[in-house]
Amino acid sequence: MNEKIAQARSDFPVLAQMVNDKPLVYLDSAASAQKPLFVIETQSDFEQHHYAAVHRGIHTLSAEATSRVEAVRQQVADFIHAQSASEIVFTSGTTEGINLVANSWGNQHVSTGDNIIISEMEHHANIVPWQMLCERTGASVRVIPLNSDGTLQIDALDTLIDSRTRLLAVAQVSNVLGTIAPLETLIAKAKQAGVTVLVDGAQGAVHGPVDVLSMGCDFYVFSGHKLYGPSGTGVLYGRADILESMPPWSGGGAMIESVSLTEGTRYARSPWRFEAGTPNITGIIGLGAAIEYVTHLGMDAIHDWETELIHYAMEMLRTVPDLRIYGPAEREGVIAFNLGQHHAYDVGSFLDSYGIAVRTGHHCAMPLMSHYQVPAMCRASFALYNTCEEVDELVTSLHRIQQLLG
Ligand SMILES: *Cc1c(COP(=O)(O)O)cnc(C)c1O
Repeated sequence: MNEKIAQARSDFPVLAQMVNDKPLVYLDSAASAQKPLFVIETQSDFEQHHYAAVHRGIHTLSAEATSRVEAVRQQVADFIHAQSASEIVFTSGTTEGINLVANSWGNQHVSTGDNIIISEMEHHANIVPWQMLCERTGASVRVIPLNSDGTLQIDALDTLIDSRTRLLAVAQVSNVLGTIAPLETLIAKAKQAGVTVLVDGAQGAVHGPVDVLSMGCDFYVFSGHKLYGPSGTGVLYGRADILESMPPWSGGGAMIESVSLTEGTRYARSPWRFEAGTPNITGIIGLGAAIEYVTHLGMDAIHDWETELIHYAMEMLRTVPDLRIYGPAEREGVIAFNLGQHHAYDVGSFLDSYGIAVRTGHHCAMPLMSHYQVPAMCRASFALYNTCEEVDELVTSLHRIQQLLG
Protein backbone atom coordinates (compact mmCIF):
# COMPACT_ATOMS: atom_id res chain seq x y z
CA MET A 1 0.00 0.00 0.00
CA ASN A 2 1.49 3.35 -0.87
CA GLU A 3 1.80 6.15 1.65
CA LYS A 4 -1.13 8.24 0.40
CA ILE A 5 -3.54 5.31 0.33
CA ALA A 6 -2.40 4.19 3.79
CA GLN A 7 -3.32 7.57 5.21
CA ALA A 8 -6.51 8.03 3.23
CA ARG A 9 -8.72 6.08 5.61
CA SER A 10 -8.60 8.88 8.16
CA ASP A 11 -10.09 11.22 5.54
CA PHE A 12 -13.43 9.43 5.99
CA PRO A 13 -15.01 10.55 9.27
CA VAL A 14 -17.92 8.10 9.10
CA LEU A 15 -15.58 5.11 9.30
CA ALA A 16 -14.34 6.04 12.77
CA GLN A 17 -17.39 4.92 14.67
CA MET A 18 -18.77 2.00 16.64
CA VAL A 19 -21.75 0.08 15.31
CA ASN A 20 -23.41 -2.36 17.69
CA ASP A 21 -20.51 -1.75 20.10
CA LYS A 22 -17.99 -2.89 17.50
CA PRO A 23 -15.72 -0.79 15.30
CA LEU A 24 -17.53 -0.30 12.00
CA VAL A 25 -16.27 -2.48 9.15
CA TYR A 26 -17.83 -0.91 6.08
CA LEU A 27 -17.90 -3.42 3.23
CA ASP A 28 -20.79 -1.95 1.25
CA SER A 29 -19.10 0.64 -0.94
CA ALA A 30 -20.39 -0.98 -4.14
CA ALA A 31 -23.87 0.09 -3.01
CA SER A 32 -22.65 3.53 -1.99
CA ALA A 33 -19.18 4.67 -0.97
CA GLN A 34 -18.45 6.93 1.98
CA LYS A 35 -17.29 10.50 1.44
CA PRO A 36 -13.98 12.02 2.45
CA LEU A 37 -14.06 15.19 4.53
CA PHE A 38 -12.77 17.09 1.48
CA VAL A 39 -16.01 16.35 -0.40
CA ILE A 40 -18.19 17.12 2.61
CA GLU A 41 -16.38 20.40 3.31
CA THR A 42 -16.30 21.50 -0.32
CA GLN A 43 -20.05 21.05 -0.50
CA SER A 44 -20.60 22.79 2.82
CA ASP A 45 -18.38 25.71 1.85
CA PHE A 46 -20.20 26.05 -1.46
CA GLU A 47 -23.57 26.10 0.28
CA GLN A 48 -22.42 28.56 2.92
CA HIS A 49 -20.69 31.05 0.66
CA HIS A 50 -21.21 30.48 -3.04
CA TYR A 51 -24.57 28.88 -3.74
CA ALA A 52 -26.74 30.26 -6.54
CA ALA A 53 -28.70 29.07 -9.57
CA VAL A 54 -26.66 28.23 -12.63
CA HIS A 55 -27.00 29.22 -16.29
CA ARG A 56 -29.46 31.98 -15.45
CA GLY A 57 -28.40 35.04 -13.58
CA ILE A 58 -26.07 37.79 -14.56
CA HIS A 59 -25.29 38.39 -10.89
CA THR A 60 -21.92 37.49 -9.44
CA LEU A 61 -22.85 34.41 -7.42
CA SER A 62 -24.77 32.89 -10.29
CA ALA A 63 -21.97 33.52 -12.76
CA GLU A 64 -19.42 32.00 -10.37
CA ALA A 65 -21.60 28.96 -9.64
CA THR A 66 -22.05 28.48 -13.37
CA SER A 67 -18.35 28.56 -14.07
CA ARG A 68 -17.68 26.11 -11.23
CA VAL A 69 -20.26 23.67 -12.56
CA GLU A 70 -18.81 23.99 -16.04
CA ALA A 71 -15.31 23.49 -14.61
CA VAL A 72 -16.49 20.17 -13.14
CA ARG A 73 -17.70 19.19 -16.61
CA GLN A 74 -14.16 19.68 -17.89
CA GLN A 75 -12.78 17.82 -14.88
CA VAL A 76 -15.04 14.84 -15.62
CA ALA A 77 -13.95 14.91 -19.28
CA ASP A 78 -10.30 14.79 -18.18
CA PHE A 79 -11.03 12.06 -15.63
CA ILE A 80 -12.44 9.65 -18.23
CA HIS A 81 -10.31 10.99 -21.10
CA ALA A 82 -13.19 12.31 -23.19
CA GLN A 83 -12.17 14.63 -26.00
CA SER A 84 -14.26 17.53 -24.85
CA ALA A 85 -16.39 18.77 -21.97
CA SER A 86 -19.30 19.00 -24.40
CA GLU A 87 -19.41 15.19 -24.35
CA ILE A 88 -20.30 15.19 -20.65
CA VAL A 89 -23.95 15.29 -19.57
CA PHE A 90 -24.70 15.64 -15.86
CA THR A 91 -27.33 13.17 -14.68
CA SER A 92 -28.72 12.01 -11.36
CA GLY A 93 -26.81 8.75 -11.70
CA THR A 94 -26.10 5.70 -13.83
CA THR A 95 -29.79 4.82 -13.95
CA GLU A 96 -30.79 8.18 -15.39
CA GLY A 97 -27.92 8.09 -17.89
CA ILE A 98 -29.07 4.76 -19.30
CA ASN A 99 -32.71 5.87 -19.39
CA LEU A 100 -31.66 9.02 -21.22
CA VAL A 101 -29.91 6.97 -23.91
CA ALA A 102 -32.77 4.46 -24.12
CA ASN A 103 -35.30 7.24 -24.60
CA SER A 104 -33.43 9.72 -26.74
CA TRP A 105 -31.05 7.62 -28.84
CA GLY A 106 -33.22 4.52 -28.49
CA ASN A 107 -36.42 6.07 -29.80
CA GLN A 108 -34.43 7.57 -32.65
CA HIS A 109 -32.57 4.46 -33.75
CA VAL A 110 -34.47 1.36 -32.63
CA SER A 111 -37.57 0.01 -34.36
CA THR A 112 -39.62 -3.16 -34.84
CA GLY A 113 -37.48 -6.22 -35.52
CA ASP A 114 -34.26 -4.64 -34.21
CA ASN A 115 -32.39 -6.09 -31.25
CA ILE A 116 -30.30 -4.90 -28.34
CA ILE A 117 -27.65 -7.09 -26.75
CA ILE A 118 -26.97 -7.04 -23.02
CA SER A 119 -25.38 -9.67 -20.75
CA GLU A 120 -26.65 -11.98 -18.07
CA MET A 121 -24.71 -10.12 -15.37
CA GLU A 122 -26.35 -6.72 -15.82
CA HIS A 123 -27.75 -4.55 -13.06
CA HIS A 124 -31.49 -3.90 -13.44
CA ALA A 125 -30.58 -0.35 -14.53
CA ASN A 126 -29.03 -1.85 -17.66
CA ILE A 127 -31.90 -4.25 -18.31
CA VAL A 128 -35.22 -2.56 -17.61
CA PRO A 129 -34.76 0.61 -19.74
CA TRP A 130 -33.99 -1.65 -22.75
CA GLN A 131 -36.99 -3.86 -22.06
CA MET A 132 -39.14 -0.73 -21.91
CA LEU A 133 -37.64 0.51 -25.18
CA CYS A 134 -38.40 -2.87 -26.74
CA GLU A 135 -41.98 -2.71 -25.53
CA ARG A 136 -42.37 0.72 -27.15
CA THR A 137 -40.74 -0.22 -30.42
CA GLY A 138 -41.22 -3.95 -30.98
CA ALA A 139 -37.49 -4.64 -30.76
CA SER A 140 -36.07 -7.45 -28.62
CA VAL A 141 -33.36 -7.94 -26.00
CA ARG A 142 -30.71 -10.61 -26.53
CA VAL A 143 -28.46 -11.85 -23.76
CA ILE A 144 -24.79 -12.86 -23.65
CA PRO A 145 -24.84 -15.84 -21.25
CA LEU A 146 -22.35 -16.58 -18.48
CA ASN A 147 -19.88 -19.42 -18.27
CA SER A 148 -20.08 -21.55 -15.13
CA ASP A 149 -17.19 -19.57 -13.61
CA GLY A 150 -19.09 -16.30 -13.95
CA THR A 151 -17.20 -14.95 -16.95
CA LEU A 152 -19.02 -13.90 -20.12
CA GLN A 153 -19.41 -16.26 -23.08
CA ILE A 154 -17.78 -13.82 -25.46
CA ASP A 155 -18.08 -16.10 -28.48
CA ALA A 156 -21.86 -16.07 -28.09
CA LEU A 157 -21.75 -12.50 -29.31
CA ASP A 158 -20.87 -13.73 -32.80
CA THR A 159 -24.17 -15.54 -33.10
CA LEU A 160 -26.20 -12.89 -31.25
CA ILE A 161 -25.11 -9.99 -33.45
CA ASP A 162 -26.88 -9.65 -36.77
CA SER A 163 -27.80 -6.90 -39.19
CA ARG A 164 -30.65 -5.81 -36.90
CA THR A 165 -28.49 -5.34 -33.83
CA ARG A 166 -28.55 -1.68 -32.84
CA LEU A 167 -26.81 -1.61 -29.48
CA LEU A 168 -24.52 -3.53 -27.15
CA ALA A 169 -25.05 -2.41 -23.53
CA VAL A 170 -22.77 -4.06 -21.02
CA ALA A 171 -21.36 -3.52 -17.54
CA GLN A 172 -17.64 -2.87 -17.28
CA VAL A 173 -17.61 -4.73 -13.96
CA SER A 174 -20.44 -6.81 -12.48
CA ASN A 175 -21.75 -5.42 -9.21
CA VAL A 176 -22.37 -8.98 -7.97
CA LEU A 177 -19.69 -11.25 -9.43
CA GLY A 178 -16.95 -8.67 -9.85
CA THR A 179 -16.51 -10.08 -13.36
CA ILE A 180 -14.50 -7.74 -15.54
CA ALA A 181 -16.07 -7.61 -19.00
CA PRO A 182 -13.53 -8.16 -21.79
CA LEU A 183 -14.46 -4.79 -23.27
CA GLU A 184 -11.69 -4.68 -25.82
CA THR A 185 -12.93 -7.86 -27.53
CA LEU A 186 -16.63 -7.07 -27.09
CA ILE A 187 -16.33 -3.55 -28.45
CA ALA A 188 -14.16 -4.68 -31.37
CA LYS A 189 -16.80 -7.24 -32.36
CA ALA A 190 -19.61 -4.70 -31.99
CA LYS A 191 -17.78 -2.03 -33.96
CA GLN A 192 -16.98 -4.46 -36.75
CA ALA A 193 -20.73 -4.99 -37.13
CA GLY A 194 -21.48 -1.26 -36.91
CA VAL A 195 -23.18 -1.63 -33.53
CA THR A 196 -23.33 1.26 -31.03
CA VAL A 197 -21.88 0.50 -27.58
CA LEU A 198 -22.92 1.67 -24.13
CA VAL A 199 -20.72 0.76 -21.17
CA ASP A 200 -22.22 0.79 -17.66
CA GLY A 201 -19.23 2.02 -15.69
CA ALA A 202 -20.92 2.23 -12.28
CA GLN A 203 -18.51 -0.37 -10.87
CA GLY A 204 -15.73 0.38 -13.33
CA ALA A 205 -14.99 4.07 -12.93
CA VAL A 206 -14.43 3.60 -9.19
CA HIS A 207 -11.70 0.96 -9.28
CA GLY A 208 -9.23 2.20 -11.86
CA PRO A 209 -8.43 4.70 -14.61
CA VAL A 210 -10.98 5.04 -17.42
CA ASP A 211 -10.19 6.06 -20.97
CA VAL A 212 -13.36 6.20 -23.04
CA LEU A 213 -11.43 7.14 -26.15
CA SER A 214 -9.16 4.10 -26.20
CA MET A 215 -12.04 1.94 -24.94
CA GLY A 216 -13.91 2.95 -28.09
CA CYS A 217 -17.39 3.03 -26.57
CA ASP A 218 -20.08 5.46 -27.73
CA PHE A 219 -21.69 5.96 -24.33
CA TYR A 220 -20.27 5.55 -20.83
CA VAL A 221 -22.24 6.08 -17.62
CA PHE A 222 -21.36 6.18 -13.94
CA SER A 223 -22.64 7.46 -10.57
CA GLY A 224 -21.11 10.02 -8.22
CA HIS A 225 -22.07 8.23 -5.02
CA LYS A 226 -20.02 5.13 -5.79
CA LEU A 227 -16.99 7.32 -6.46
CA TYR A 228 -16.88 8.86 -2.96
CA GLY A 229 -19.13 11.69 -4.14
CA PRO A 230 -22.75 12.69 -3.50
CA SER A 231 -25.81 10.63 -4.39
CA GLY A 232 -28.07 12.19 -6.99
CA THR A 233 -25.13 12.93 -9.27
CA GLY A 234 -23.86 11.05 -12.26
CA VAL A 235 -22.39 11.31 -15.69
CA LEU A 236 -23.36 10.30 -19.18
CA TYR A 237 -20.50 10.49 -21.64
CA GLY A 238 -21.57 10.44 -25.27
CA ARG A 239 -19.32 10.78 -28.29
CA ALA A 240 -19.74 14.34 -29.57
CA ASP A 241 -21.24 13.54 -32.97
CA ILE A 242 -23.75 11.09 -31.49
CA LEU A 243 -24.85 13.40 -28.68
CA GLU A 244 -25.21 16.30 -31.08
CA SER A 245 -27.52 14.24 -33.30
CA MET A 246 -29.75 13.07 -30.44
CA PRO A 247 -33.10 14.68 -29.62
CA PRO A 248 -33.79 15.93 -26.10
CA TRP A 249 -35.50 13.50 -23.77
CA SER A 250 -37.05 15.72 -21.14
CA GLY A 251 -38.12 19.28 -21.75
CA GLY A 252 -38.00 22.36 -19.58
CA GLY A 253 -35.77 25.22 -18.60
CA ALA A 254 -32.05 25.32 -19.31
CA MET A 255 -32.29 22.98 -22.30
CA ILE A 256 -33.65 25.52 -24.77
CA GLU A 257 -32.30 28.16 -27.09
CA SER A 258 -35.65 29.90 -27.53
CA VAL A 259 -39.27 29.12 -26.76
CA SER A 260 -42.21 30.56 -28.63
CA LEU A 261 -45.83 29.67 -28.07
CA THR A 262 -46.57 30.06 -31.73
CA GLU A 263 -43.38 28.91 -33.42
CA GLY A 264 -42.28 26.19 -31.01
CA THR A 265 -38.96 25.67 -29.29
CA ARG A 266 -35.39 25.62 -30.44
CA TYR A 267 -33.20 23.42 -28.31
CA ALA A 268 -29.85 24.23 -26.83
CA ARG A 269 -26.73 22.45 -28.02
CA SER A 270 -25.63 19.26 -26.31
CA PRO A 271 -24.80 18.60 -23.52
CA TRP A 272 -27.18 21.27 -22.13
CA ARG A 273 -30.00 20.01 -24.33
CA PHE A 274 -30.10 16.97 -22.06
CA GLU A 275 -30.11 18.86 -18.79
CA ALA A 276 -33.65 20.19 -18.39
CA GLY A 277 -34.41 21.96 -15.14
CA THR A 278 -32.21 23.06 -12.27
CA PRO A 279 -29.46 20.51 -11.73
CA ASN A 280 -28.09 19.19 -8.43
CA ILE A 281 -25.77 22.17 -8.19
CA THR A 282 -24.10 21.39 -4.85
CA GLY A 283 -23.93 17.74 -5.83
CA ILE A 284 -22.04 18.54 -9.01
CA ILE A 285 -19.58 20.63 -6.99
CA GLY A 286 -19.21 17.63 -4.65
CA LEU A 287 -18.65 15.31 -7.60
CA GLY A 288 -15.85 17.61 -8.74
CA ALA A 289 -14.32 17.41 -5.26
CA ALA A 290 -14.58 13.61 -5.26
CA ILE A 291 -12.79 13.42 -8.61
CA GLU A 292 -10.12 15.80 -7.34
CA TYR A 293 -9.71 13.60 -4.27
CA VAL A 294 -9.32 10.26 -6.10
CA THR A 295 -7.12 11.88 -8.75
CA HIS A 296 -4.84 13.15 -6.00
CA LEU A 297 -4.54 9.61 -4.61
CA GLY A 298 -4.16 8.26 -8.14
CA MET A 299 -6.58 5.85 -9.76
CA ASP A 300 -3.67 3.50 -10.48
CA ALA A 301 -2.69 3.45 -6.82
CA ILE A 302 -6.31 2.85 -5.80
CA HIS A 303 -6.50 0.00 -8.29
CA ASP A 304 -3.26 -1.56 -7.01
CA TRP A 305 -4.37 -1.45 -3.40
CA GLU A 306 -7.85 -2.82 -4.08
CA THR A 307 -6.39 -5.65 -6.17
CA GLU A 308 -4.09 -6.63 -3.31
CA LEU A 309 -6.96 -6.42 -0.85
CA ILE A 310 -9.35 -8.52 -2.90
CA HIS A 311 -6.72 -11.21 -3.51
CA TYR A 312 -6.16 -11.36 0.22
CA ALA A 313 -9.90 -11.52 0.88
CA MET A 314 -10.44 -14.32 -1.66
CA GLU A 315 -7.61 -16.31 -0.09
CA MET A 316 -8.82 -15.83 3.48
CA LEU A 317 -12.49 -16.49 2.67
CA ARG A 318 -11.52 -19.89 1.25
CA THR A 319 -10.70 -20.95 4.83
CA VAL A 320 -14.39 -20.68 5.81
CA PRO A 321 -16.04 -24.12 5.56
CA ASP A 322 -19.11 -24.30 3.33
CA LEU A 323 -18.71 -20.79 2.02
CA ARG A 324 -19.70 -20.52 -1.63
CA ILE A 325 -18.15 -17.62 -3.52
CA TYR A 326 -19.82 -16.58 -6.77
CA GLY A 327 -17.92 -15.38 -9.80
CA PRO A 328 -14.46 -15.72 -11.29
CA ALA A 329 -11.08 -15.65 -9.52
CA GLU A 330 -10.01 -12.58 -11.48
CA ARG A 331 -12.35 -9.86 -10.33
CA GLU A 332 -12.81 -6.29 -9.23
CA GLY A 333 -14.27 -4.78 -6.09
CA VAL A 334 -16.84 -7.28 -4.84
CA ILE A 335 -17.16 -10.77 -3.39
CA ALA A 336 -20.65 -12.26 -3.27
CA PHE A 337 -21.13 -15.39 -1.20
CA ASN A 338 -23.50 -17.64 0.69
CA LEU A 339 -22.75 -19.61 3.81
CA GLY A 340 -24.02 -23.19 3.56
CA GLN A 341 -27.78 -23.25 3.20
CA HIS A 342 -28.28 -20.23 5.44
CA HIS A 343 -30.25 -17.35 4.02
CA ALA A 344 -28.16 -14.32 3.14
CA TYR A 345 -30.34 -12.15 5.40
CA ASP A 346 -29.51 -14.29 8.44
CA VAL A 347 -25.79 -14.16 7.70
CA GLY A 348 -25.99 -10.43 6.99
CA SER A 349 -27.81 -9.79 10.28
CA PHE A 350 -25.18 -11.69 12.24
CA LEU A 351 -22.42 -9.76 10.49
CA ASP A 352 -24.21 -6.52 11.31
CA SER A 353 -24.27 -7.48 14.97
CA TYR A 354 -20.46 -7.68 14.74
CA GLY A 355 -20.32 -4.20 13.22
CA ILE A 356 -19.76 -5.48 9.69
CA ALA A 357 -21.82 -3.88 6.92
CA VAL A 358 -22.35 -6.07 3.87
CA ARG A 359 -25.11 -5.98 1.31
CA THR A 360 -27.67 -8.78 1.25
CA GLY A 361 -30.42 -9.49 -1.26
CA HIS A 362 -30.68 -9.75 -5.02
CA HIS A 363 -28.33 -6.80 -5.66
CA CYS A 364 -30.61 -5.42 -8.38
CA ALA A 365 -29.57 -8.40 -10.51
CA MET A 366 -32.43 -10.89 -10.27
CA PRO A 367 -31.46 -12.65 -13.53
CA LEU A 368 -28.11 -13.48 -11.89
CA MET A 369 -29.88 -14.89 -8.82
CA SER A 370 -31.90 -17.11 -11.18
CA HIS A 371 -28.71 -18.19 -12.91
CA TYR A 372 -27.26 -19.41 -9.61
CA GLN A 373 -30.69 -20.54 -8.37
CA VAL A 374 -30.49 -18.64 -5.10
CA PRO A 375 -32.93 -16.05 -3.73
CA ALA A 376 -30.17 -13.85 -2.37
CA MET A 377 -26.46 -13.44 -1.71
CA CYS A 378 -24.27 -11.59 0.75
CA ARG A 379 -21.83 -9.23 -0.87
CA ALA A 380 -18.72 -7.71 0.63
CA SER A 381 -17.37 -4.85 -1.44
CA PHE A 382 -14.05 -3.12 -1.12
CA ALA A 383 -12.96 0.46 -1.49
CA LEU A 384 -9.72 2.41 -1.17
CA TYR A 385 -10.18 2.80 2.61
CA ASN A 386 -10.63 -0.87 3.48
CA THR A 387 -7.86 -2.84 5.19
CA CYS A 388 -6.62 -6.41 5.59
CA GLU A 389 -7.63 -6.22 9.27
CA GLU A 390 -11.20 -5.67 8.14
CA VAL A 391 -10.98 -8.71 5.89
CA ASP A 392 -9.74 -10.70 8.92
CA GLU A 393 -12.67 -9.37 10.93
CA LEU A 394 -15.10 -10.56 8.23
CA VAL A 395 -13.48 -13.98 8.02
CA THR A 396 -13.37 -14.49 11.80
CA SER A 397 -17.02 -13.48 12.04
CA LEU A 398 -18.03 -15.90 9.29
CA HIS A 399 -16.21 -18.72 11.12
CA ARG A 400 -18.14 -17.76 14.25
CA ILE A 401 -21.50 -17.64 12.44
CA GLN A 402 -20.72 -21.00 10.87
CA GLN A 403 -20.25 -22.48 14.32
CA LEU A 404 -23.36 -20.79 15.72
CA LEU A 405 -25.66 -21.79 12.88
CA GLY A 406 -24.06 -25.16 12.26
C1 LIG B 1 -25.20 0.86 -8.81
C2 LIG B 1 -25.22 0.38 -10.20
C3 LIG B 1 -26.11 0.92 -11.13
C4 LIG B 1 -27.15 1.95 -10.77
O1 LIG B 1 -26.54 3.10 -10.25
P1 LIG B 1 -27.45 4.25 -9.57
O2 LIG B 1 -26.44 5.11 -8.91
O3 LIG B 1 -28.36 3.56 -8.62
O4 LIG B 1 -28.17 4.93 -10.67
C5 LIG B 1 -26.06 0.45 -12.43
N1 LIG B 1 -25.17 -0.48 -12.79
C6 LIG B 1 -24.28 -1.02 -11.93
C7 LIG B 1 -23.30 -2.04 -12.41
C8 LIG B 1 -24.28 -0.61 -10.60
O5 LIG B 1 -23.43 -1.14 -9.74
